[in-house]
Amino acid sequence: MENRRDFFKKLGVLGVSAIATKLVGETQLQALNEIATATETDAHFKLAPLPYAYDALEPFIDKETMEIHYSKHHQGYVNNLNKAIENSSVIDFKISDIQNCQNIDASAPLAIRNNLGGHVNHTLFWSLLKPNKEAKPNMPVGRLADAMKKDFNSFDELKKQFTEKATKQFGSGWCWLIEQNGKLIITSTPNQDNPAMKVSEQQGKIILGIDVWEHAYYLKYQNKRGDYITNWWNVVNWDKAEELYSSK
Ligand code: MN
Repeated sequence: MENRRDFFKKLGVLGVSAIATKLVGETQLQALNEIATATETDAHFKLAPLPYAYDALEPFIDKETMEIHYSKHHQGYVNNLNKAIENSSVIDFKISDIQNCQNIDASAPLAIRNNLGGHVNHTLFWSLLKPNKEAKPNMPVGRLADAMKKDFNSFDELKKQFTEKATKQFGSGWCWLIEQNGKLIITSTPNQDNPAMKVSEQQGKIILGIDVWEHAYYLKYQNKRGDYITNWWNVVNWDKAEELYSSK
């Protein structure tokens, strides 16, 4: 109980440390905050509309998976986050105090860490996907494309390493492309953690992320996680990734 009280007390300060700000970037920090606050009503988090139809990512990600993933899984994280807040024995904290993933350290109540992560990660994930009906080659753009060449020699090499990391993530979790001290890095997190959290092994500015929980692919790809990842590359929203990369 003391830990939890300390956690919220720390959050009350909400002054993000200079180091964390440098790692993640001020704009991304605002963006992560907005994911939480823009959908907040009456001290509750709310699921924002999906930015496209359930079948928009066919044939790469199927309609049924999208519908269940968004309306059941993501909604579930939002509901459970609200429950975790209601059930908290701490009465003197504001919802704005928990909106920021960067405040998630080892003392954070697990129900809040998992469900806030689930909400933020899925909101990012939807925004980092876009339809590709003509199955056109889907390539990174702008400054991000240049940075990939610099840090990985080529997009193909980055794709290879990212696919391998995502495929090998043990159990449920996420694979990420982040910027850390000016360099692109591929990393992964278990469960619903993300690289903006203090608990993450590698911290940095999130540029791209893939959900490798079985619920993200099992209906269409069964146990073939590699096939899901191969298809996912076709619907990555590179404009959004470039926007995240170029944000200060
Ligand atoms: Mn998911």
